[in-house]
Amino acid sequence: MDIEQFRKAGHQAIDRICDFNYSVEKMDVVSSVEPGYLRKALPSEPPEQGEDFSKIADDYQQLIVPGLTQWQHPSFFAYFPAACTFEGVLGDLYASSVTNPGFNWSSSPACTELEAIMTDWAAKLLGLDKAFLNSNETGGGVVQTSASDSVLTATVAARSLYSKLHPDVSQDKLLFYTTSQTHSVGAKAALILGIKVRSLEVNLSDNFGLRGETLRNALEEDIRAGLHPFIIVATIGTTSSGAIDHLNEICVVAQEYSLWMHVDAAWAGVTLSCPENREICHLSFVNRYVQSFCVNFHKWGLVNFDASILWVRNREYLTDALDVTPPFLRTAQSDAGTVIDYRNWHLGLGRRFRSLKFWFVLRSYGVEGFRQHIRKGIELNKLFSSWVSSSTLVELATSPSFGLTVLRMKAPKHPTASQDFLTRKLFECLSARKDIMVTQTVLQGIFCIRFAFGAERTEERHIVAAFNLLCDEARKVNEEFKI
Ligand code: PLP
Repeated sequence: MDIEQFRKAGHQAIDRICDFNYSVEKMDVVSSVEPGYLRKALPSEPPEQGEDFSKIADDYQQLIVPGLTQWQHPSFFAYFPAACTFEGVLGDLYASSVTNPGFNWSSSPACTELEAIMTDWAAKLLGLDKAFLNSNETGGGVVQTSASDSVLTATVAARSLYSKLHPDVSQDKLLFYTTSQTHSVGAKAALILGIKVRSLEVNLSDNFGLRGETLRNALEEDIRAGLHPFIIVATIGTTSSGAIDHLNEICVVAQEYSLWMHVDAAWAGVTLSCPENREICHLSFVNRYVQSFCVNFHKWGLVNFDASILWVRNREYLTDALDVTPPFLRTAQSDAGTVIDYRNWHLGLGRRFRSLKFWFVLRSYGVEGFRQHIRKGIELNKLFSSWVSSSTLVELATSPSFGLTVLRMKAPKHPTASQDFLTRKLFECLSARKDIMVTQTVLQGIFCIRFAFGAERTEERHIVAAFNLLCDEARKVNEEFKI
């Protein structure tokens, strides 16, 4: 493709993206394709001769779009929202047009410098302490691909620090703490690093948040058993129910036992942009105690995937653990110690120019626009959860959290079927529909259904429709089982 052909194909692509955006609401949320549909439609070998791009672009429309789940649909309430703004799309387009794998400063000064500034902007947006700013030259932020990479990176740094302080402790004695509500990111990091993991119990009575006393008891028990706990992954806004660990208690215990505290705020971290949410998220404890902190802007935070920021209080712990510098990677600026080399802040070497889309989004929305977007999701969730709590058919399974409502069928008065069974049936009915998408979880042994709000296009009319549809399906389930 030459420049003029790209110009033409590019105009067509933007036109089609605009058309898609006009029509997405009329599409099904859930794709109707069957597993293996694409293998049947595509040749098994790459073409011998290059093909005309217009044919390739048409095939994208005909073969790929029908196989997409429409995460941008206003009735997509599954998992958590996936941000997709036009500013983010343009950021990715420009970034990809210059492909700078900015692994060190001199391989692309603008990539490194913009990332350092954008992670500072984002830290300020969320009210993080200046300890986490790149500009203070002790801590700092780095854009990672995912919250999983952030936990893994933080654990590598924590392990390296612990081993330095306790050189006689063998790796098989190290212990990693999560809770029963921590996302699989915790267990996965421990698995990859070959470290023992203990999942601490949490209860409905504590709204599924970890308490300081539980952590203290576990620490005493494990230390007595000859183990060496060195990191805990706490969560602000768990995936299952939006729970917030009691950081006001556990930070203090963690500090007493010199545990590295990593806080996974992958989903709910963006709510810190609104000052009214900071106390409930224990931000002052994050600011005072936490070693590493992660927020995925690509969920609710308007920046397209991938846009996960990891902040650390002490960048040296990262670079001590991850700096491997063969001669071919040395540069004068790095040797002089005057620049950031982001290759030493994450697992890979090359990295995408992700800060550009942060810049576009944060400038275009401004702090005010960003907050408005977050508040809208929270308001819609409040409305939806108020209808659930006054319903005769369904009930809240736990307190609503920011943009998340977790619900279940009401327990029947004269049980012909259990509450768990009826909720599973309701989920089956909802999952058979193409016009809405929700996901499930299990809380204290009872199957529940999650409704996550915060997609940019979702308005009140969509949640009214979702609630009516939920009630229709719940009524049908009750009728079928003669409740
Ligand atoms: N942590 C929480 C609380 C999440 O909700 C999720 C994903 O939904 C993750 C971590 C995993 O995020 P990632 O896909 O960025 O690894």
